[in-house]
Amino acid sequence: MKSAQIIKIKEKLSVVDLPDPKPRDTQVLVRIEASGVCHSDIHLWEGGYEGAAGTFLKVEDRGVKFPITPGHEISGKIEAIGESVSGFSVGDRVIVYPWIGEGSCPACRVAQENLCDTPRTIGIYRDGGYSELVLVPNFRYLVKIDNMDVNSSASLACSGLTAYNAVKKATVGPGESIVIIGAGGLGLMSVQIARAITNSTIVVVDVDDKRLSEAKRLGAHEVVNSSKVDPVEDIKRLTSSLGAEAVIDFVNNTRTAPLSINMLRKRGKLVMVGLFGGALELSLPIIPLRGFTITGAYTGSFNDLVDLVNLSKTGKIKSVVNRTYKLGDANQALEDLRAGKIVGRAVLNPNN
Ligand SMILES: [Zn+2]
Ligand SMILES: [Zn+2]
Repeated sequence: MKSAQIIKIKEKLSVVDLPDPKPRDTQVLVRIEASGVCHSDIHLWEGGYEGAAGTFLKVEDRGVKFPITPGHEISGKIEAIGESVSGFSVGDRVIVYPWIGEGSCPACRVAQENLCDTPRTIGIYRDGGYSELVLVPNFRYLVKIDNMDVNSSASLACSGLTAYNAVKKATVGPGESIVIIGAGGLGLMSVQIARAITNSTIVVVDVDDKRLSEAKRLGAHEVVNSSKVDPVEDIKRLTSSLGAEAVIDFVNNTRTAPLSINMLRKRGKLVMVGLFGGALELSLPIIPLRGFTITGAYTGSFNDLVDLVNLSKTGKIKSVVNRTYKLGDANQALEDLRAGKIVGRAVLNPNN
């Protein structure tokens, strides 16, 4: 099989020929039709994340080993199955849940493998979707997608799942306000999800009018261009001066995090999602005085993915895929994403 691998950080990916894996026991071999190109692939390629004041969180310190085949948003067709696989057959169309844990830590025991203490994620810790084939260690990480569109279904495994989990964590009730910071792929997905699973008032904040009108088209009740008005003032105006019950920050950098906190009403909840880096200086008394909850959301559980695929089958949510690339163009795909040229999602079609 051909795979595009990161051999060394910051160097171009190389397309290499590797032996086709043979599935045994519970393993499943999937022929990849689409593999989403995610911002975290860029972090993997660059070797880590920017932290506070010039620090760098290295992926190698978190157990990543190179060479590695990136790609954790995978959909395709089952090519072969191990002898203990049940409920799946060769030819089934599936999406792969990539956030695999080692199975016995407290997170894994409550089915939150995405927060495992020693993760084994496909496309980060083990070879992933920038490849013609991927070996999935257990059939229980597969969800059937039947005749769903292969390109847009792939992105449910990460960007869709993250948006879904973030909206769930925001726990807004009917009539309450949820503010979504950032109308990129995740933000736009979360607008649709909030529309589908809550009865809240949805406000989207971004600096780009085009993205904001897309947010409106997908169901946002209000949009705020934070390059033109003070977004905190505007949220107060929209919420009878109280602030919002929940804010999801898909940017979550030094600039947006203080704004997000200042938009909350008492008992409000901030869900931090973005990995754009930086640090936050915080007036500590406001957290107890206003009873805030600050939480993080990183992807989602397998059950969340099942729910999301079902929601997607109803047609209520759609992810926007507008660029497809061949496997040999993986470097171009990453460069285009890094340069901000991708609106929505880019996917590789490794077998085309
Ligand atoms: Zn675990
Ligand atoms: Zn991702």
